[in-house]
Parts: sequence; structure tokens; C-alpha cells
Amino acid sequence: MSDLPTTNDAGIPVESDEHSLTIGAGGPIVLQDHYLIEQMAQFNRERIPERQPHAKGSGAFGRFEVTADVSSFTRAAVFQPGVTTDVLARFSTVAGERGSPDTWRDPRGFALKFYTSEGVYDMVGNNTPVFFIKDPMKFQHFIRSQKRRADNNLRDHDMQWDFWTLSPESAHQVTWLMGDRGIPRTWRHMNGYSSHTYMWVNAAGERFWVKYHFKTDQGVEFFTQDEADQLASADTDYHTRDLFESIAKGDNPSWTLFVQLMPFDEAAGYRFNPFDLTKVWPHGDYPLTEVGKLTLDRNPTDHHTEIEQAAFEPNNLVPGIGASPDRMLLGRMFAYADAHRHRIGANYKQIPVNASKSPVHSYSKDGAMRVTNVSDPVYAPNSKGGPRADVEQYGTPAGWAAEGDMVRAAYVSHAEDDDWGQARTMVRKVLDDDARARLTENIVGHLLNGVSEPVLVRAFEYWRNVDEDLGKQVEAGVRAKQDEKDPKAEKQANPARESMQRKA
Ligand code: NDP
Repeated sequence: MSDLPTTNDAGIPVESDEHSLTIGAGGPIVLQDHYLIEQMAQFNRERIPERQPHAKGSGAFGRFEVTADVSSFTRAAVFQPGVTTDVLARFSTVAGERGSPDTWRDPRGFALKFYTSEGVYDMVGNNTPVFFIKDPMKFQHFIRSQKRRADNNLRDHDMQWDFWTLSPESAHQVTWLMGDRGIPRTWRHMNGYSSHTYMWVNAAGERFWVKYHFKTDQGVEFFTQDEADQLASADTDYHTRDLFESIAKGDNPSWTLFVQLMPFDEAAGYRFNPFDLTKVWPHGDYPLTEVGKLTLDRNPTDHHTEIEQAAFEPNNLVPGIGASPDRMLLGRMFAYADAHRHRIGANYKQIPVNASKSPVHSYSKDGAMRVTNVSDPVYAPNSKGGPRADVEQYGTPAGWAAEGDMVRAAYVSHAEDDDWGQARTMVRKVLDDDARARLTENIVGHLLNGVSEPVLVRAFEYWRNVDEDLGKQVEAGVRAKQDEKDPKAEKQANPARESMQRKA
């Protein structure tokens, strides 16, 4: 039993943790029981809107230590030799809601916040090096297709495959997702990738394109679909628990950061569009260069303030690191901060987990829940001693030249930019026979879960485009198992779709 007296939120000691104030023991509750009202009112306001994608997740604090010398590629303070920086990491699924199972098949978010000496640097990565789409115009539609239907509020493989098969650029990521890495054994046993291409700028102003690879020091491990399905009901929060318990007992996970670096001028002539988020840069073209080590060693003490309110945003880029023409990155540089303003409020950057550990001298002012005092002058330019942008040091943005008429068009195509090639390489060259067999089985199982006939036919074609044999095996597997299925059971599982099909 604690010796601390309970107080209300104003610090005033309260009379009881158990009994409301009433007129006699059997009488009504009186309105002046302000402590009861505070308890009820606060409780009603505990939930903030969950993240639209990436709602289910958790994370931990730690540090990033630079172990190599990449100063000839970037002047970013966080990546200079010998520097150690405090870090927050958050891992998540994409499509599920806050209470959804950790072991659903889905890409995982791998978001990092570096509290650098030059401001907060965020890397909003995933455990996959590519993504389903390459233009932010399709992002909202893609996420809706993965979440829930309007009528019965159920997730629906039919709409997932409808979207994927009408979006051939998804093939590389869907191959990845249906393979072993689509369900990591734990967050500790998966890699993290920037996925996007960024720019690095060195002290001399030379520019490089860069992709980040955080390789797990624990080794990559996965769950089969059966194992994951069992865990989804036995322990919904399996990954959350695993990370927390590992760190609590001192078994601190770590990742080694490598980068792929492309000289600025090589982008235009490269065989793949290096800014296309559905493509990797093959290691043979751009090998991995070691940078440092990420270690997570401290659990949050309040999940809400430190993880739920953590706001990662890919526009948080520090000097020496810039964006690239990757359209998805450019879209996310608006969308993430906008989501935080909606979800947490205009002054979300003042919440300790989001606040810079280096001094902030901005001209932002006022707004709901502002807690940091602003001092005059509140405008720039001024002659009153307020902060002044250092044009000499920071005046040249990390950018690139662009010209042309305004258009709505696909990316400029590079020599090997088709949608199927890199997925085919993964199926034929990266996966062994057992992994290919599991991939086929996972795709067949996914398709048998309520995908309707016209979409199914497109799905067979989709996989034949990736790899002729894989497509044939998927089709044969689905057709054979469809014949075994009890049509009544199918009807019960999808009453809304049945009725839609009847209407059509
Ligand atoms: P490499 O043989 O050099 O690399 C293949 C990479 O595939 C491995 O390094 C590993 O990445 C990753 N990998 C291994 N098993 C699986 C799996 N079951 N599911 C998903 N990824 C796996 O070849 P390339 O660099 O030429 O790439 C060939 C193909 O490999 C690409 O088309 C792409 O599909 C895939 N790949 C490539 C990556 C890259 O950045 N080049 C990264 C990941 C996949 P890791 O070492 O990161 O674990």
C-alpha cells in the first residue's frame, strides 16, 4: 500500500477512492462531487483518434551509435564518426486497428526518431524495402482497400485483391508480403528499411542518393501462417509483449545500419528509376556500406504519452539529409504532420516525446494546449534580437533541378522499369524451394478467403506475370481447394458479398 495520498488533477487530496458523495447512504449523488465528475470526464476523453494506418504498435527507447566514417557522404551531425544519439523506435502493423492481432500478415512499420544535436530527425520506414504503390494519389484508396468494407465493417480479401490486381506496381510488395517475411516472428527478428530514397549532402555540398537498411542482429525469423493464426487468438499482443519483456530482462535488441549510396548524377541513367518506391536497388549495383548500430534498451513507462502520442514525420530532415523525387515520400512529407495535427493537436511537437533535445527557436505561437512560453519579438524579420535564419550556413536546400510543363503522368521510365521484374527475381533467385512452396500456399489460402470470380481470374494472371509456374500453381491450388469447399459455409462467411453478387 502506498503512503501517497490520492489527489485530484489539481493536486488536492481527495476523500475517497471508492464512494461517491450522496445524500444519505441510499440517496442520490450530488453534483458538487467534483472528483467523481473529474474521473468520469477524464475517462470519457482518454482515447485520442487512432492512427489511420499503423494504429497497432508499440516501441522503445535506445541509442544510435556511429561505428564507421560516412562523413564524406553526409554532413548530418547524427552520422558523424563516434556520435551517439538518443532514439525512439515504434513498430506497428499497417491495416489493423489498435486492438488487432500483432501476428496478422501485413508489412510492419519501423519508425525511428533521432534526437540529434541539430533537431529531431525522423525515419518512417517499414520492414520491407518496397511499397505497394508509387504515387500518393493512390495511397488513400490502397489503405481503404486493406481496411474495412462500408456495409458489414469486415475486412475483405476480395477488395484487397481487386485493388492489387488493378495496380500491377503492387506485385513486388505483394510477393514480399505473401512470403515468409510477411509475418515476422517478433519485431526484434525483422529488418527495417527506409524504403524511400533520400539525399545526403556532404560538407563540400556534394550530393548522393541514399537508401537505409537496418539489419537485425537477432537474425530474420518468421511465423508460418498456421503459427500466426494460432497466436492471433492465443496472444493478440504477442509482438508488443515480446519487445517489452526482452528489454525488461536486459535482452536488448539491436540492428546494424547499412546504406546504399548512389552518386547524384547516376540516377538519370540507372536501369531502374531509383525513386520508384516499388523497386529496390540490387545489392550488386549498389553494395551496402556500414554506418552504425541501433540498440533499444529502455521501455516506455507510459504507453500513451510516449508511444501513442509519438509523432513521426518524414519531413523532419536535418542539415545534410534531404528528400528525393520519390513521389510517395513527397506526399508523406505533408500527410504525416497533417495527421498529427488532427490526431494530437496543433502543438504536438511540445509533447516531451516529440520535443527536440536541441534548442528550438521557432516563430510558432499560441494554439490549443501550447505549454512552452513564447517571448517577443513574435515576427521576423525584426530588429529586436529575435532568431534569424542563417542563410550562409543553411541557405542552400538539399534539392535537385526540375523543369517541364505541369502534367499528370507516370514516372519517367528507365530501361528495366516494368512492374513484374523485381518480383520475378525474388521468386526465382532469392527464395529457395521451400520458401517458394510456402509463398504459393499463402497466396492460395489468401485467395480462397472470399475472393470473387472475376478478381480471381485477374489474380491468376497477376501471378503468371510474376512467374509463369507460380501463376499456374496458384490457379491449380485455388481451383482444387474450391472444389473441396462446402458452398453453404462460404455463403455464411460472406452474406453481404452474396447479396451484392445477387444484386449485380
Ligand atoms: P541479393 O541476392 O543481393 O539480395 C537478396 C536479398 O533478399 C537479401 O539480401 C535479403 O535482404 C532479401 N531476402 C532474402 N530472403 C528473403 C525473403 N524470403 N523475402 C524477402 N526478402 C528476402 O539480390 P538483389 O539485391 O539483386 O535483389 C534481388 C531481389 O531481392 C530483389 O528484386 C528484391 O525482391 C529482393 N530484395 C532486395 C533488397 C535490396 O535492397 N537489394 C532488399 C530485400 C529484398 P536483406 O539482406 O535486406 O535481408
